[in-house]
Amino acid sequence: MSHSHTKPPSDPALRIKAIETLMLEKGLISLEAVDEFIDICENRIGPRNGAKVVARAWTDAEYRKRLLADGTAAIAELGFQGGQGEHMVVLENTPLVHNVTVCTLCSCYPWPTLGLPPVWYKSSAYRSRVVIEPRKVLSEFGLSIEDEVEVRVWDSNAEMRYLVLPMRPAGSDGLSEDALAGLVTRDSMIGTGLPKSPQGAEP
Ligand code: FE
Repeated sequence: MSHSHTKPPSDPALRIKAIETLMLEKGLISLEAVDEFIDICENRIGPRNGAKVVARAWTDAEYRKRLLADGTAAIAELGFQGGQGEHMVVLENTPLVHNVTVCTLCSCYPWPTLGLPPVWYKSSAYRSRVVIEPRKVLSEFGLSIEDEVEVRVWDSNAEMRYLVLPMRPAGSDGLSEDALAGLVTRDSMIGTGLPKSPQGAEP
């Protein structure tokens, strides 16, 4: 005879729960603070924020200028600021330069505009190899960069976080800012991808 049990949570989940319970008991954190942090991670930060910044830069030349001159301030104009986004530098892709970002030491990443980093961004393979052989790593992401285009790799750190401003895709002329934002992928703002092609996008 068999009957089913609810599976126990995974080991890391149990460990996190145990640590959280201890910290709550000792008064080191409050439930409200934990809830607030989870809400920030789930709802208030993420790559859709970065996509809005990029779409604004594609449609507003003055905004683009401000964004490239002072990333932190221009991004804050759209309401995106806070932890891990205090010192933002925006890197403009051009027909001759393709920018890629990494944190070789750990996993520094612009939370307000991109959310939490993907697993591969934190992997030692990406962190070490993208500096040494960026074109090869990008090709593994399915991105082939023409020989005449210079690939620049930028190492984030506790002081500086980067956001790549990808080139506006061809054929996107008639699209609204919202529709343009829909073309902007997370990876295109890290530099390991390109924006989606506008084919089939709602104008
Ligand atoms: Fe780091």
